[in-house]
Amino acid sequence: MPRKNEILRLKEILEQRKQTLIDFLNDGQISIDELKTQECKDDLDFAELSFDTFNEELVLTRLSCELKEVLYSLEQIEKGEYGLCEMCDEAIDYNRLKAKPYAKYCIVCREIYEKENKEK
Ligand SMILES: [Zn+2]
Repeated sequence: MPRKNEILRLKEILEQRKQTLIDFLNDGQISIDELKTQECKDDLDFAELSFDTFNEELVLTRLSCELKEVLYSLEQIEKGEYGLCEMCDEAIDYNRLKAKPYAKYCIVCREIYEKENKEK
């Protein structure tokens, strides 16, 4: 489990990201209710998102999915369950969380997950 001050730092990052996403999605006229019904592929790599190469609709879809992940992570923080891998219950590495605060799996499980999905 990451130390408490690390979680507070990550919470700050998540809160900021949440606000940015909400502002952006409001401009695109997507409401929170709408995004709740959004189909999201799990664990997309939002970091790779580029505004130049994606069309607007795709960008909005991905950002709303990211917001969903961010909101979920904030819920987990409230519950005190944040930062644990959903597959093996091990603490997710802090550096991984810093790069991707809404990561649900540790690096090991993430690899297994990706492999399984490729085989499907
Ligand atoms: Zn794991």
